[in-house]
Amino acid sequence: MLYQNILDLCKDPDFMDFLALLVRDESIENPAQGIAKMVLAGRASELSDKQAYVFDSCVVKPHSKRLCHQCGGDVLWQEMYYYCHNGGYCPKCQGRFPL
Ligand SMILES: [Zn+2]
Repeated sequence: MLYQNILDLCKDPDFMDFLALLVRDESIENPAQGIAKMVLAGRASELSDKQAYVFDSCVVKPHSKRLCHQCGGDVLWQEMYYYCHNGGYCPKCQGRFPL
């Protein structure tokens, strides 16, 4: 299935928590914001191909496989919101090297 990765991600409570924070901040642009709200409402399986593509390219990809600028470690979904607001450092490094 084309967007199985999105359906899989939606089963990850850490990703969903991160997504909820993004939506709350309105930091994603429409139409991705509206699509993110659908996903949050548990309607990921109802996305059209086009909506899934927008969600993937505007929300998932920009936040996937991110590395901490300091230690080079993978940033977990539960750290991603923090990472995005702290110059690209994981919480561990941010604590060690305050900006
Ligand atoms: Zn780090």
